[in-house]
Amino acid sequence: MAILVTGGAGYIGSHTCVELLNEGYEIVVVDNFSNSKPESLKRISEITGKLFPFYQMDVLDKKALDQVFSENTIEAVIHFAGSKAVGESVSIPLAYYQNNVIGTVILCEMMKNYGVKNLVFSSSATVYGATDQVPITEDTMLGAVNPYGRTKLMIEEILRDLSESDETWSIALLRYFNPVGAHRSGRIGEDPNGIPNNLMPYISQVAVGKLESLNIFGSDYPTKDGTGVRDYIHVVDLAMGHLKALEKIRSKRGVDAYNLGTGSGYSVLEMVEEFEQVSGQSIPYTIVERRAGDAAICYADVTKARNELGWSATRGIHEMCEDTWRWQQNNPEGYSEESKIKQETRSPVLKTAVGLFMSH
Ligand code: NAD
Ligand code: UDP
Repeated sequence: MAILVTGGAGYIGSHTCVELLNEGYEIVVVDNFSNSKPESLKRISEITGKLFPFYQMDVLDKKALDQVFSENTIEAVIHFAGSKAVGESVSIPLAYYQNNVIGTVILCEMMKNYGVKNLVFSSSATVYGATDQVPITEDTMLGAVNPYGRTKLMIEEILRDLSESDETWSIALLRYFNPVGAHRSGRIGEDPNGIPNNLMPYISQVAVGKLESLNIFGSDYPTKDGTGVRDYIHVVDLAMGHLKALEKIRSKRGVDAYNLGTGSGYSVLEMVEEFEQVSGQSIPYTIVERRAGDAAICYADVTKARNELGWSATRGIHEMCEDTWRWQQNNPEGYSEESKIKQETRSPVLKTAVGLFMSH
């Protein structure tokens, strides 16, 4: 019995694959590399010393998905595959509804066809909209404020309808706060395309000399130092949360939402200072206008995940910065160079064990 991981080559997916393999799970990975590189799969294998089947395919491709389910005995699905850039979702909303919402519907149809009814879904704290009511509990009012957030909210509602229609489904909606950091080995991490939108990869690219200076979006928020406060969570803690959610859905039917954060908020300036200390580099910055749509403060109440999943984050901002810095220093260009040739030679749907694929 295997766990199907969609989007397993991506940032959170790759770290979760490592933890699943380390824990002895069998995994099957699918990804279309729309926002990732084959190199990350090779490194999952390298870190864990394990091989796993991989399909290069789009979740929207029903035929290819059918092939995955027919060739493997799938017990549960962790669904990471999706598009995640808020700004881009405003420019091309239809592409976001297509990839995120339709992609999930197609996946669930296939799961239903094969009687696989255990699902862990990557939701987001963005489903709480721009609330300033903190800490945010799972019962805080929902209301997304951009197309990306609306795709997550719609999917959550679709999954609730599905569970309502058939009580044998077990679904965990994991609402991530701000994932940062990288694997301790420095071999896998976040590899954004172009100029990063998020704070942590931006800071680390300034530290390594790829970007000149950080723009801090507003210093007049009603927070400890005027800059925005967020609940940063180490990606390995987040990955572990998926293993706990998998255990939970094995024993409990229905749909449950869980906040995955640390429960503590840090300001932009605190993150800059911590990163400077860890890296020994100075991070020049300029205070600029607030970014449209940003909340002042956002951090999670993590009681439910602690009580019901038996999970809580253990890594603090020092470790988050340390691991990000190690990954950034060791891979200043991300995965790009090593992956270029392999990507060009891939066929649209190709099943391969990552070990074989590595040697091509
Ligand atoms: P990511 O872009 O690194 O990973 C997503 C992976 O899915 C990529 O490898 C991409 O190539 C793949 N993919 C996208 N569409 C696909 C499709 N149609 N078929 C097959 N593969 C496809 O993103 P991430 O940061 O790892 O996020 C994973 C999930 O978590 C996403 O659903 C995202 O919306 C959600 N999430 C992320 C954050 C964050 O800050 N990183 C926060 C909250 C929620
Ligand atoms: N931020 C910033 N400069 C940047 C990117 C982000 O000042 O280049 C701030 C942003 O305003 C917010 C915090 O850093 O207060 C985290 O932003 P990020 O985009 O990483 O996460 P999100 O806002 O989506 O929670």
